[in-house]
Amino acid sequence: NDVLLRLDNVVKHYPIKQGALVRRQIGAVRAVDGVSLEVRRGETLGLVGETGCGKSTLARCVTRLHALTAGTVEFDGRDISDLSRRALRSVRREIQMIFQDPYGALNPRRRVGSIIGDPFAIHGIADGAERERRVQDLMALVGLNPEHYNRFPADFSGGQRQRIGVARALALRPALVVCDEPVSALDVSIQAQILNLLADLQRELELTFVFIAHDLSVVEHVSDRVAVLYLGRIVEVADAAELYANPRHPYSAALLSAASVADPDLAERRERIVLTGDVPSPVDPPKGCHFHPRCPKAQPICAVEAPELVARRGDPAAHLTACHFPVEPGDDLTRGPGPAG
Ligand code: SF4
Ligand code: MG
Repeated sequence: NDVLLRLDNVVKHYPIKQGALVRRQIGAVRAVDGVSLEVRRGETLGLVGETGCGKSTLARCVTRLHALTAGTVEFDGRDISDLSRRALRSVRREIQMIFQDPYGALNPRRRVGSIIGDPFAIHGIADGAERERRVQDLMALVGLNPEHYNRFPADFSGGQRQRIGVARALALRPALVVCDEPVSALDVSIQAQILNLLADLQRELELTFVFIAHDLSVVEHVSDRVAVLYLGRIVEVADAAELYANPRHPYSAALLSAASVADPDLAERRERIVLTGDVPSPVDPPKGCHFHPRCPKAQPICAVEAPELVARRGDPAAHLTACHFPVEPGDDLTRGPGPAG
């Protein structure tokens, strides 16, 4: 079975309540609004979208740091959607997260050796000299000097701190690592080092990655496949090269047109598509296709009927797009929203 993680119609809504004595639910933030997705063993799946599109919430649903509102998460053939706290412990060994902020994620008053050894302590694996040896092996694995075991986070640079986060995430030899914007807070010169480290570790340890980013150029380098998220829904998913060469959802096309892409031919062919309006609030997302108020290809049906995420005519079976009117070669998307006159 080459599918490691399967999401089926995952929903995460946060209730909004009002009232001092009797709290009534008056609405919901629809952070994740029906996501179905498969992550294959050994691949890196890039998850892309603007701030507020639900990327981090989805990550926390996958790692079951959040309870789901609806839907199922299946990991390694096992439904983990409703597991008890106790049953989740064993799953948590298999699924780990790397966070964006290598500063905030580390307690400044604790020695890095002890921070990296946390997972061993939590799961009661190895102690004393054995734990210390394992932690030092992990430090070496991620390119830190094992002799710095007793130093504090402040003694390390930003890139080194992210290596500490990586070491801790790998302590229990997980199968899946969810990386939530792991290089966004780092200098560009350091970003490449961390991305290379992750790629090396993936090969060496046969890891599967979900790689979350808002920066499409970062995702392009690391991902085998890319899923584009908009207001809590996946609007397009395809092999990375296919998506970058042939974005079919108008939102993906707009995101790509604004990104700095590595391939200069591609960059030249692209006219910048400027989206009008901000990302609408997930509290009351637009009906039908969530993107319709901003979409240059929108037609009346788009405001009524949500398009399904399926392979569109002429595309490879693995290229899925949720759009009634996918982008065709020669489409002019630069003219702003509204039906063609
Ligand atoms: Fe949504 Fe319609 Fe635009 Fe497709 S064409 S993205 S369905 S609004
Ligand atoms: Mg986020």
